[in-house]
Amino acid sequence: MTTREYRRKRNLAKSGEPAGTSKSFGAAPLFVIQKHDARSLHYDFRLEVDGVLKSWAVPKGPSTDPSKKRLAIETEDHPLDYADFEGVIPQGQYGGGTVLIWDRGTYRNITQKDQSLRPLKQALEEGHALVRLEGQKLTGGYALQRIDADKGHWLLIKMDDDDADARRNPVSSEPDSVATGRSLKEIASDAEHGE
Ligand code: MN
Repeated sequence: MTTREYRRKRNLAKSGEPAGTSKSFGAAPLFVIQKHDARSLHYDFRLEVDGVLKSWAVPKGPSTDPSKKRLAIETEDHPLDYADFEGVIPQGQYGGGTVLIWDRGTYRNITQKDQSLRPLKQALEEGHALVRLEGQKLTGGYALQRIDADKGHWLLIKMDDDDADARRNPVSSEPDSVATGRSLKEIASDAEHGE
């Protein structure tokens, strides 16, 4: 897996985004969800798999309610150091707008097939994967189910486990960055003042 598509789409000298590393940070693979106030607000859900961040844009953001299926649209693989990116991509650049680290942590692949663990890369190629997130806002099992391979459409669904909670709605109740505590507005204003 490479991030050629990521680099092709961007002028990294102008966008201020990471040029990319495939060096893993720790023993457990990481996940990150970046709130991205681009042409339309969405949440970029990313999982470290074999040296890249596999990525989906989730227009409504993830839910903690197992009855809520959230559309997740496949996007290009991102480099691992993108997980640390928070800031403003200038207007006119690809994905121009403010990026906030909404949640991050590590995850465990729990995809089973024929009583054995399915490697996540393979599970994603087959269009069905289960992961257990250990984030600051999101914890527990999430399912990724491909529904339209041509369009790259998937569903992101909270699994019905101990961490499921239909009354919680962290997308609205916990809007700010887990990395810096800032809101989208504060990140944009800091960037404007060169901080
Ligand atoms: Mn995005």
